[in-house]
Amino acid sequence: MSKYQTKNLFSEEIEETSCHHIIRVAFESAADTEFDYLLPDEYWPIEAGQRVEVPFGKKNKLEIGFCIAVEKRDYSTEFAVTNAGKRQFKLKKVVKIIDKEPLLSSELMNLAHWISSYYVCPLGQVLAAMVPAAVKRAVGARTEKYIYLVIAAENIVEIAKQLRGKKQKQIVEHLQEKGAFISGAALELQSLLAEIGCGKEPIKKLAQKQVIKVAEKTILKSLPVIPRGMSIKAEKVVLNEDQQKALDYFKDEIESGQFSVTLLHGVTDSGKTELYIRAIEDVLRTGKSAIVLLPEIALTTQTIQRFSARFEKIAVMHSGLTAAQRNVQWQKIKSGDADVVIGARSAVFAPLPRLGLIVVDEEHEPSYKQDTAPRYNGRDVAIKRAQLANTLCILGSATPSLETLSNCRSKKYFSLLRLPKRVMNLPMPEMRLIDLRQIGSVQKGISLISEPLAEGLKQTLAKREQAILLLNRRGYSNFIFCPSCKHTLQCRNCDVTLTFHRLEVPAHREIRTVTGKHIASGYAVCHYCLAQTLVPEKCLLCGARLAMIGLGSQRLEEELAMKFPQANVSRVDSDSMASGDYYKVLRDFSEGRIDILAGTQMLAKGLHFPNVTLVGIISADTCLYLPDFRANERTFQLISQVAGRAGRSAKKGTVFVQTFLPDQPAIKFALAGDFDGFIKEELKHRKVCNLPPFWRLAVVTLRDRTFDRLETACSRMREKIDLVIRREKLKVIVRGPMPAVISRIQRFHRMQIIVQAPQASILRELFNGLRQDRPVRPVVKVAIDIDPINLL
Ligand code: ADP
Ligand code: ZN
Repeated sequence: MSKYQTKNLFSEEIEETSCHHIIRVAFESAADTEFDYLLPDEYWPIEAGQRVEVPFGKKNKLEIGFCIAVEKRDYSTEFAVTNAGKRQFKLKKVVKIIDKEPLLSSELMNLAHWISSYYVCPLGQVLAAMVPAAVKRAVGARTEKYIYLVIAAENIVEIAKQLRGKKQKQIVEHLQEKGAFISGAALELQSLLAEIGCGKEPIKKLAQKQVIKVAEKTILKSLPVIPRGMSIKAEKVVLNEDQQKALDYFKDEIESGQFSVTLLHGVTDSGKTELYIRAIEDVLRTGKSAIVLLPEIALTTQTIQRFSARFEKIAVMHSGLTAAQRNVQWQKIKSGDADVVIGARSAVFAPLPRLGLIVVDEEHEPSYKQDTAPRYNGRDVAIKRAQLANTLCILGSATPSLETLSNCRSKKYFSLLRLPKRVMNLPMPEMRLIDLRQIGSVQKGISLISEPLAEGLKQTLAKREQAILLLNRRGYSNFIFCPSCKHTLQCRNCDVTLTFHRLEVPAHREIRTVTGKHIASGYAVCHYCLAQTLVPEKCLLCGARLAMIGLGSQRLEEELAMKFPQANVSRVDSDSMASGDYYKVLRDFSEGRIDILAGTQMLAKGLHFPNVTLVGIISADTCLYLPDFRANERTFQLISQVAGRAGRSAKKGTVFVQTFLPDQPAIKFALAGDFDGFIKEELKHRKVCNLPPFWRLAVVTLRDRTFDRLETACSRMREKIDLVIRREKLKVIVRGPMPAVISRIQRFHRMQIIVQAPQASILRELFNGLRQDRPVRPVVKVAIDIDPINLL
């Protein structure tokens, strides 16, 4: 639209259109405020959740926003006040309605308001995040036009006489013949035009004369998203006693129609998934539907197939879908065509019309937390949504988070159920500690696989059984360093060391630049900004030969190939997954074409391979070195989780845990399979430091390319925080501003202010206080993270 038109559109003459309603609009792009607009009567009725196009800002640029409230007012009050309440504006008018019906139900709108307030995020941004981009852009959808008569049958002859155009007459007669008197019997425009043999002109004329009406229908191609391949037998198992008790409990909760949360704490293979399925079957019987959330990496073909073998109308939402597929799935859910939605974090926003249950599997998983605004935790939003819908929410885990355990103890609508045994009395795998301090070859950095683990692998291969090895580090080595002057290769943009990645197919050429010869077999990568550079053979500072230490999954793959040349080894990490072979590798493994699967923690979840009898954790210590208060918890979870991959059948499983820190509590308790012992120990520690689950945390991260500007902004932020604390007399501890653990990412310096409060409500008071005078354009970038998942 040209400038001239835009201007003209809002000039006085056109403002004659009468408006009896005012709507409030939230924009994705705008500041933390919403704006009022007049709604021309021709657009009435409208509901919250529909998108509109409106002129915005001084230049009246057309923008799309969500209608969030509708109010009836007199035209005379068009001089209304925006909710900022500061100035009187003459209200502008809505130009266009984008959605014929709300994209979000009132239940989801309420959820959006809660997220906006709890996670301190502008409402427009929250709403934008709740609807997939593919839906908003209508990817893969085309609109078809349909034509029908809007005059009574007895008047047709009379009207046809008055029509001068021959084609117009033909069209009316044809529509009459086909009985197109209501929208339900309308004829598709293109085939109608072809039938009559004319262009669109006669149709336009007829519509002007109000003889016919044009209706639009959105057509979506249906696309298969349930992967084929691994077949799963949908055999019904007989529940054991613990399972039956849990199911009875769920049934009562579902029947009550009340909000409640149940933590299902059961070791891997205790039959949790089977219980989710049974509970869902129950919900479907009541005519309602269910959402199942899984961590992205657990959304494997296996899991999806297991659900689709038991439910007919299932929709999936995960990152592997194309935009068009995502739109199709969403529309299917919205129209009530799916009973069960299974998906990753954002599936918590699935627009199911009659929600009856939400399941969050692996509730402790950090990947439920979104790391961009809105910084929500999918698990916590699931609980809130269940509350708004008055339904049951089941949280499942073998290693529940400390937060959820403490909720079970202190909150009245939380309850805890345990499944302490593996199904069919499968034995727990044997845990074997390997103290790396006593293994010379590993200590010297020569090998990653200790002799006992190598021996275990040899026996496993001899029995034609399979093994999974876990090393939670991508690449080849994560330190490229000079043994003589101690210089390490750092990222130019970030405050981190670079990781060496070997080329999958080594190049046999020599690389020379002005700085000398470079290593040709790979390159250095920054895991934060993804920058890549060549690696010089010699230190640029002192000329000594560079060395590589710190070991990654590529290095492990290499060592396996050397030690077990006759075995088929495959690597799975996000690098190898990027090449798209992930699902093929998993299939090959499940069908026995791969003997050893080596990789990062992607391997730890959602996989069921009965022939795996050995699991090796190459370094149980990797997580422990993270400078984060959840390091112990993560370590314990990882070991327990991976261990669960071993011996998922009658064959006995063994787990080898290699560590330099065998006395570290997380490792000691994980080896003993002592969950309660670990929790008790960890809680002591958290209590002393006022950390979650006792207190709540918020991290304000400020970043900017200019350090001075950042420092100034940080002190100002701290002053503002202190001001609100004094004004509201809040009980909190504030630390910082201080440099973040990773003090620079992508050339942005990062500083943090950490706030600790005994209750969430206090954090909310503090941030809502700050929010009221938040500038439209902050000088530096500010991110507020409520209930952060880490402090990096
Ligand atoms: P979890 O989710 O706790 O890891 P699953 O529900 O996936 O456990 O159960 C593990 C395996 O055991 C699955 O193949 C499942 O079909 C099977 N299973 C579940 N419950 C029983 C049972 N009561 N008897 C026999 N097999 C069962
Ligand atoms: Zn970087």
